[in-house]
Amino acid sequence: MVLPKVISLIFIPASASEAKRMWKESIKNDWKHKCAYCGSEHEITLDHIVPKAKGGTSHTTNIVACCRSCNASKAYEDWIIWYIQQPFFTEERREAIEKWMEKGLLNNNLVAYPPRKNVVY
Ligand SMILES: [Zn+2]
Repeated sequence: MVLPKVISLIFIPASASEAKRMWKESIKNDWKHKCAYCGSEHEITLDHIVPKAKGGTSHTTNIVACCRSCNASKAYEDWIIWYIQQPFFTEERREAIEKWMEKGLLNNNLVAYPPRKNVVY
């Protein structure tokens, strides 16, 4: 039996703030609630891979799940320069982050938000 590789989850957010919350949650879900850098499951936040202060965007491709400790340690450093110096650096996670930066997708989880529509009944 052949199973489809792509599973699409379509959420229809109730409001803009709810949409934002769901978007943040979807990023954490995609990273399985683990820090993209060290793999910790403790105090997961979101991190701008390229800091906003250095011109990084707030697009999904520039945001990963990140533990509070890495987030504070990384601060405004170039992520790869910071990351290769860390004891928990792995080639596997570096690749996953680079893949994410290209597509904003890790596995086969596709989270799509349909455009807002004003429906009049
Ligand atoms: Zn971490």
